[in-house]
Amino acid sequence: MSALLRNAPIVLETKEAQGSLITMKYWGYFIAKFAAAAVPLLGLRLLIDGIWPPLTNAYNYQLSRFAFDLPYTMAVLFWFLLCCGAVYLIVLDQRYRCRVCLRRLRMPVETGSWSRMLQFGRPRIEYICPYGHGTLREDEIQISGRQMPEWNPHSDDMWEELCAAASKDTGREP
Ligand SMILES: [Zn+2]
Repeated sequence: MSALLRNAPIVLETKEAQGSLITMKYWGYFIAKFAAAAVPLLGLRLLIDGIWPPLTNAYNYQLSRFAFDLPYTMAVLFWFLLCCGAVYLIVLDQRYRCRVCLRRLRMPVETGSWSRMLQFGRPRIEYICPYGHGTLREDEIQISGRQMPEWNPHSDDMWEELCAAASKDTGREP
């Protein structure tokens, strides 16, 4: 018994450490994607500045062409749109990735029903990790503004979940 008590905090500690490592991996990948997208976009910006170098006036002051030169301004606006598109794609990609192994979530399944909402809940789309780390539940219709999808991690022990589902089925359903 005393050995069990002594071991318990260590188990909790390692689980917490593993959890924070997984979180760091997930957000680290998010930041790495930003860095990977920033390199070509910054290169493109330098190329635009190379094609249209800054204006030099009488006092040797470097004046930007932005808002003075129409082709340069259009090019910078197009570059800005590319940046917005890249950020949008990065966030969209991150949302549909497994929080544990970073693989793309697969097999979208529709659950729930509008006509039997009290029984099955509102219609949702569920995505799962192919390696069984968890399920992402997203509302089909976002009624009250944009709602973040809900991530439910699966237990490491698949028998535990199977037994829980089986006991629920036999115990409550008629
Ligand atoms: Zn996974």
